[in-house]
Amino acid sequence: MKLGIGARITAVFGLGALLLSILMGGLSYFTVRHFLLAGRESAAQQQAFANAVLVRSSLQAGNTPYVALLADTVAGTDAHSVLYHQSKVYVSSLSVNASSIPAELRKVVLAGTAATQTYRTPAGTAEIVVGVPVPSEQAFYFEVFDLSDLDHTLRVLGLTLFGAGVVTTILGIALGRFASARSLRPLADVSRAAGAIAGGELDTRLDADAADPDLEGLTNSFNAMVDQLQERIEREARFNSDVSHELRSPLTTLAASLEVLEADRDKLPVRSQRALQLLSDDLRRFQRMVGDLLEMSRADAGSVDVFLEEVNVCELVQHSVETGMGHMDGRRHGGPPEVRIDPAVRTWRVGVDKRRFERVMVNLMENADHYGGGVTEIAVGPGAGEKVEVTVDDAGPGIDPRERAKVFERFYRGSASGRRGTGTGTGLGLALVAEHMQVMHGGVRVESSPAGGARFVLSLPVLSDGDEPEMES
Ligand code: ADP
Repeated sequence: MKLGIGARITAVFGLGALLLSILMGGLSYFTVRHFLLAGRESAAQQQAFANAVLVRSSLQAGNTPYVALLADTVAGTDAHSVLYHQSKVYVSSLSVNASSIPAELRKVVLAGTAATQTYRTPAGTAEIVVGVPVPSEQAFYFEVFDLSDLDHTLRVLGLTLFGAGVVTTILGIALGRFASARSLRPLADVSRAAGAIAGGELDTRLDADAADPDLEGLTNSFNAMVDQLQERIEREARFNSDVSHELRSPLTTLAASLEVLEADRDKLPVRSQRALQLLSDDLRRFQRMVGDLLEMSRADAGSVDVFLEEVNVCELVQHSVETGMGHMDGRRHGGPPEVRIDPAVRTWRVGVDKRRFERVMVNLMENADHYGGGVTEIAVGPGAGEKVEVTVDDAGPGIDPRERAKVFERFYRGSASGRRGTGTGTGLGLALVAEHMQVMHGGVRVESSPAGGARFVLSLPVLSDGDEPEMES
């Protein structure tokens, strides 16, 4: 799995803090341990040597018993003595005996050299043993010092450093998260702006004044790029609009002339009649296309105002179907489509541009006519998430699932057009449907109808009491 940049920054900070705390903690622990131990060792050696001198003078004076003397020498300390004298061993306490002295150290001391050793007993207690030979009396004096307190101190120190390390690492991670969020914020702004632009808000720009000085270059070039993009899109839209507009008047003249010819159709020879028919079919298609293109380019140029009105959804659909039928100039197969209304949505209201909604319905009904043998049913019902859905069904060949997203693209004329089309399709109808629905804050999708054909589903947000339809221009 690839880590995101934010996660990586956090990980680097966390790891850095961890390494630093291990280093600092380890260094502090071992330095403190070294000095404490060295101090203890030299104190132990001093004491043991002093006591050895006492032992020697006591032995020289011929004093006995040694145990009392030994007890005296170590009174008030956490040390115990072991004395080897003339192959006898004397101990100052029951807690020590000859086997308390590590064999190695004993060997060195018995050989005549003073030595010190730190070790841990099998029971786990840390101790220092100092061995001092007293050659003049053939005695060997050992003193065992308990290091439990030092051990305890070091353990507490270790735990404290470990705790501090954990806290530092957590702080490092938190700092990393903060730093990554902070450094990625400008990128989040850029991606938000890019998203808005992609969503059609071409006026979006990055705030050059608020930008981080280090990112000034990025901000400026981003804004310059969007300026150019906007200019280009607007120029293209204007061009499209102009072209469509310019085409309209010659087309109207052509259509009028064609009507004159059609009036005298019967007087024409059969070949000319066929040619006239072809001409009028294509001219109609041409006119439709120019009309659709004009509408589309106007929408692209943002020059159309949208007036959303609050209306009852059932009345809206019924009204649009009736008016739509009128526009379809008798091309419908069969009788008027049935509108089935779910009782749940009877009183629901939506904010729509009635003219646009009507165009949407006409478009879908015409398509059902052209490609699906006519509308089988129109239904209004509740949809997911506070939406109302209007479905337009037909019993035709339906739309292949792979084509379902494409049919809403401009100029897309799917495989169905070849099979059943009348040749008047422009491939713009559904693209306009999608645009109209988007402007009205709704959407459109295509599914399979229960009759086996296509089902177009229009969804619109339902207005609750007090909601005003949101205007857009
Ligand atoms: P056109 O002007 O060609 O009808 P549309 O955008 O309205 O353009 O439709 C695009 C394509 O979607 C059509 O060419 C057709 O292949 C397919 N289509 C649209 N409606 C239906 C339908 N009800 N049943 C089957 N195919 C359809």
